[in-house]
Amino acid sequence: METTIIIIVAVVLVLSVAIKAIFFPPKFPESKTFKCARCAKISTHSDRTVEAWRRGFTKLYCSSCHQKWLQSQPQVKPSGGGCVSVLFIAALLPSAIIGFLKWIV
Ligand SMILES: [Zn+2]
Repeated sequence: METTIIIIVAVVLVLSVAIKAIFFPPKFPESKTFKCARCAKISTHSDRTVEAWRRGFTKLYCSSCHQKWLQSQPQVKPSGGGCVSVLFIAALLPSAIIGFLKWIV
């Protein structure tokens, strides 16, 4: 029963994202540059920072700071990836459902 609900919610979420992508093309930041939140360097947006900006991140990092950050992160083993993503989805689902309902209404 719970699995059915999860599948329905997942399908609805995927559909809403697809519909939104078709009818509402992705936005771009007004400025082509941003100030790095770590080293305060003015950098031009890349696909990565634009994507982060769309997701609502206010702190953007230049590519060199991003690389340093990546290197400082412990390597995620592929075997644990599935479990982490399930937890991630479980944590995001409530806010995603609320966002979807707001968007529909
Ligand atoms: Zn930086």
